Amino acid sequence: MERYSIINNKQKREIVLLRGRGCIYKKCTFCDYYSDSCNNEQKNFLLNKSVLDNVTGIYGNLEVINSGSVFELDNNTLELIKKTCQAKNISTIHFEAHYLYKNKINALREYFNNFDLKMKLGLETFDFNFRENVLKKGINENNPATICEHFDEANFLFGIKGQTLESMKNDIELGLKFFERICINIMCDNSTKIEPDKDVIQQFVDKLYPIYKDNERIDILINNTDFGVGD
Ligand code: SF4
Repeated sequence: MERYSIINNKQKREIVLLRGRGCIYKKCTFCDYYSDSCNNEQKNFLLNKSVLDNVTGIYGNLEVINSGSVFELDNNTLELIKKTCQAKNISTIHFEAHYLYKNKINALREYFNNFDLKMKLGLETFDFNFRENVLKKGINENNPATICEHFDEANFLFGIKGQTLESMKNDIELGLKFFERICINIMCDNSTKIEPDKDVIQQFVDKLYPIYKDNERIDILINNTDFGVGD
């Protein structure tokens, strides 16, 4: 499993895939990557340290992901992220968190108060019905202005039966309105029952990708390893 990479286009940054105690939620119907977890904090820390040792600070910008939320990383790992970023002159750090943790984000910003923290939400779509009844995302909020309150960036998931050209375009436009940056993930085959829908993906590739591919505020992952981490 690749756990360190450098993203050399758009918002240039290093990215690390760390390991925590596991996603608190685990109910998203499309997700199987929360299996990258371990209950042993010391083992996680040693693994995370070996990954963070790769960080050079080349772009002064680091994205930290962990197959769940930043709040599932052990304290020693959090401290090491802070020390590594200080030592390598990294000023911007991106973390991910489920909406369930929204009330803990201010304290995290305080803990990392010498850095510009960018919190990323796995929103997947603004369509409440699709998000909560198909994807079972567990975000019981419909108002975009409220959803984005604690978050700077968001992930979207496209390419699933039931999505349309209009719904995807609406998500992108709302995403650009309410977040600084968005990341579009195209559904890939995995071990869950949710399958990629070829027609929906083709519509995205034909009609939306050409419009948004050069937008500096949008990352587009056609394959889920396009950032160079994962397996
Ligand atoms: S998508 Fe994120 S929040 Fe949902 S089950 Fe997977 S790791 Fe947990």
